[in-house]
Amino acid sequence: MKAAVVNRPFGLDNLSVIDVPDAHISDDEVKIRVAYAGINPVDYYIISGLNNVNPVPHIPGSEFGGYVEEIGSKVKNLNKGDRVIVYPRVFDGTCDLCISGKEYLCRNGGIVGGITNGGFAEYAVVKYQNVMKIPNNVSWEKGVSLPIAGLTAFHALIESGIQPDDTVVVVGASGNTGQFAVQLAKKMGAKVIAISSKPWVKELGADEVVNMNQALNALQRVNGGRLADVVIDSIGSKTVGRSIKLLDTGGKFVTFGALTGQTASMIISEIYSREIKIIGVTGGTRRELSRLIDLASRNEVRPIIWKVFSLLDIKAAISSLFSRERNGRILVKVSG
Ligand SMILES: [Zn+2]
Repeated sequence: MKAAVVNRPFGLDNLSVIDVPDAHISDDEVKIRVAYAGINPVDYYIISGLNNVNPVPHIPGSEFGGYVEEIGSKVKNLNKGDRVIVYPRVFDGTCDLCISGKEYLCRNGGIVGGITNGGFAEYAVVKYQNVMKIPNNVSWEKGVSLPIAGLTAFHALIESGIQPDDTVVVVGASGNTGQFAVQLAKKMGAKVIAISSKPWVKELGADEVVNMNQALNALQRVNGGRLADVVIDSIGSKTVGRSIKLLDTGGKFVTFGALTGQTASMIISEIYSREIKIIGVTGGTRRELSRLIDLASRNEVRPIIWKVFSLLDIKAAISSLFSRERNGRILVKVSG
């Protein structure tokens, strides 16, 4: 089969599409004929060797879906040809975190496509526990946008404890997760101020689309001058300080990404004197992904797609994550 493979020394220059032997499946595994994959920053980190990478040479690709091709002897409730997406966390189901319903934090886990081979290939093999069916009315473009982009945003909003009529600021609203955070926060009854330079973000239902410098004025209009209850910020160093200033007393700063840098300084008294809460999130649960599939099948959430590349153009697909012209999601179409 054809697959995108990265080898040491890691980096985009050492990613190429080559023929590799088909993987065999064990009793509890499922082989998927990959239809589409989503491109996310995590793929870039894995290809660059910044995350745990196993095996090497390695097939990256953490967000994907396709048709069930073959099932192991212990696999139930799946049939050849089923349309499925892949829950992107490896988990053992037995550690204390798995038992408490936090399988995305499994002590013996990691990211599919990071600590296992992933979906930038004609076929991928995953544990049956990671496979979730999607209805026929959920397109591949939509389906493969749920496991990372959709799920991270959904989980972030749930962990923020968002209440109806709260005011949520989404920083980086045109990004993979930002798009979903805007739509889902609206569904959850919040007023949403989207920080973005892209006018189309308004189509996602944001009450206001403004740049960071206009955010206080937007809060004035939307919230009568009261500051935000929740700020969702996956941008990193560049925005953290200003994001925290947008929060009302008792407000929550939610972070799950650091595209612009890992470190930031903050004024500590601003945090404690106003009881600001800082909430880190990563991934989400299978239950949350299943709820997202339902929302997508009712057309209540959708991604804005910018470009669809072929598997042969995987390098260009990943490079374009950092394009200034980027206007929505980047996907890879592997088969139909
Ligand atoms: Zn576990």
